[in-house]
Amino acid sequence: MTNPFDLSGRVAVVTGANTGIGQAIAVALAAAGADVACVGRTPAEETVAKIVALGRRAQIVSADLSTIAPIGQVVDETLSRLGRLDILVNNAGIIRRADAVDFTEADWDAVIDTNLKSVFFLSQAAGRHMIAQGKGRIINIASMLTFQGGIRVPSYTASKAGVGGLTKLLANEWARHGVTVNAIAPGYIATNNTAALQADAARNTAILDRIPAARWGAPEDLGGAAVFLASDAAAYVQGHILAVDGGWLAR
Ligand code: NAP
Repeated sequence: MTNPFDLSGRVAVVTGANTGIGQAIAVALAAAGADVACVGRTPAEETVAKIVALGRRAQIVSADLSTIAPIGQVVDETLSRLGRLDILVNNAGIIRRADAVDFTEADWDAVIDTNLKSVFFLSQAAGRHMIAQGKGRIINIASMLTFQGGIRVPSYTASKAGVGGLTKLLANEWARHGVTVNAIAPGYIATNNTAALQADAARNTAILDRIPAARWGAPEDLGGAAVFLASDAAAYVQGHILAVDGGWLAR
């Protein structure tokens, strides 16, 4: 019997693959059989080593996604160095924290450009290729703030709410072409992105008190959801935002 979660022969592009959630998803996709283009501004050498140790191919593709300038090159390099492009994981993202009354235009633009504008235009570039081949998988990394307001992170909340909307719009347009577009909404995961929250004793306690699983998530907790959405098992899953949150949204 064939395994519907098997990704053998597929090529995935993962942005922000050098650390945190992106690294864990890149390794999980490789463990399921995929080769991976590890895209980002910091070379993902550790991630490549982990993927090669699993017997898969991996390539570092350098790109600073604070602008859309490198997007065409990301697709071209993936195709020329790994031969295919089947799966795109839009993971790279940043956060800026300040009270809304003090929030600057620079902190607004930086977050929206990386978390939303680059996500759309990289999806567009990969989507054109996937539509032409009649099959593809796009997985966006959303957030609890795709559903909730949050506090002191206005551009982040706007970007992740936007990612939720884009996920549904692209699914609506591309489902008929065999391209699925879904998102994973991580709960509170221990990474660089949440270092300030983990270090703030009061916020850390408040967050832990609300998580039914009673712990921060680990980046590896996202791997199974990514493999599922990337696989043939999820062929009819479209425009869905899958929370992997230890029960946070259920409270
Ligand atoms: P992280 O450890 O800070 O990783 C962020 C990744 O994005 C890094 O690889 C980073 O590269 C990359 N990146 C940032 N700006 C970039 C740019 N201009 N060009 C290319 N790559 C860039 O945080 P993380 O928690 O793993 O975050 C990954 C994703 O999950 C983000 O979209 C984040 O919003 C989302 N998320 C995280 C949580 C959480 O609790 N941690 C919850 C919900 C959603 P560098 O190392 O070079 O900076």
